[in-house]
Amino acid sequence: MNNFTYVRASSLSDAVNQAVADANSQFIAGGTNLIDRMKVFLDQPSQLIDISRLQMQGIETMTDGSLRLGALVSNTAVADNSHVRRNYPMLTRAILSGASQQIRNIATVGGNLLQRTRCPYYYDTAFPCNKRQPGTGCPAIHGINRNHAILGASEDCVAVHPSDMCVALAALDAVVEVTSPQGQRQIPFTQFHRLPENTPQQDTNLQPGELITAVILPPLSWAKSGVYLKIRDRASYSFALISVAAAVNLQRDKIQAVRLALGGVAHKPWRATAAEEFLLGKSADITTFTAAAEIALESAQTLTHNGYKVELAKRAMRRALMVSVQGGGVA
Ligand SMILES: Cc1cc2nc3c(=O)[nH]c(=O)nc-3n(C[C@H](O)[C@H](O)[C@H](O)COP(=O)(O)OP(=O)(O)OC[C@H]3O[C@@H](n4cnc5c(N)ncnc54)[C@H](O)[C@@H]3O)c2cc1C
Repeated sequence: MNNFTYVRASSLSDAVNQAVADANSQFIAGGTNLIDRMKVFLDQPSQLIDISRLQMQGIETMTDGSLRLGALVSNTAVADNSHVRRNYPMLTRAILSGASQQIRNIATVGGNLLQRTRCPYYYDTAFPCNKRQPGTGCPAIHGINRNHAILGASEDCVAVHPSDMCVALAALDAVVEVTSPQGQRQIPFTQFHRLPENTPQQDTNLQPGELITAVILPPLSWAKSGVYLKIRDRASYSFALISVAAAVNLQRDKIQAVRLALGGVAHKPWRATAAEEFLLGKSADITTFTAAAEIALESAQTLTHNGYKVELAKRAMRRALMVSVQGGGVA
């Protein structure tokens, strides 16, 4: 670890002003990802700005029925919140499928959004990596790429986004609230993370110095039957090979609305919009869901070792959709 200075932010404006004053500084919240990255020299900030004592700890119901999750609310507190459990169960299940109880107790909403890929080539500084050091190459493309992207990848990067929570947030059309010295703005969740293109070093569309203050969940009465299905190598403490967040709104046996997002397939949580459009007005049966899964994976491109993900993703989607139309629960 390199030397760095540590400051504790006294207010939101203090935090963002300090971040703008030193472009090589980083915010620290729970520290469960950043400290790991610093230990292996992936991140070498000159200054850590501790935001963990700022007033972003609450979960509030807004007048329009949205739920506002403060950026410093722990992953555990979100998963356990009674409103979240009742109205957005896919979010509770997604969070509980990740990490361990101890990590979830410390990990925060804002930090979860900004955790970085677990691509082993990114983590191992003996290898080149365009995400770590732009222009050096992507050894995963011709290396061991069993865990890598099948959708939206580029010649510069085939890493996948690791978060479970973010897959549910993409499906729920969450909104990210951020602040900077210029003021506050809101970013639709599906526009928050980026595909790699030729700048894989940038995971998100955050501007330098911007601080996440909250994530807002719009009201969605029919998300009560939402499902999160995670397929992984081990039953716990393992990142997703494939995951699916799904919720179906049935009216007189026809699909009136649907939400579908995939994890483990791309550089960002992948909202399957073409499949959603296909499903509207159709009967909720296995034939329809099979066709929707084909559409969702139509543009998949595989590498030497990750071809299995295409069929796995299709099956996981079918299963998650079926469980959702049966009322939700464990997929
Ligand atoms: C062993 C292990 C297993 C894990 N397994 C899973 C898993 O299966 N699924 C899963 O989804 N996750 C998993 N995680 C990841 C875990 O969920 C994240 O480490 C955690 O959510 C990060 O939150 P944090 O508050 O600790 O972030 P930090 O480590 O404090 O910060 C992470 C990044 O976010 C930035 N940041 C933090 N807060 C803000 C903010 N408010 N505004 C702007 N920038 C901010 C920091 O500068 C830093 O770059 C695992 C982690 C570990 C260590």
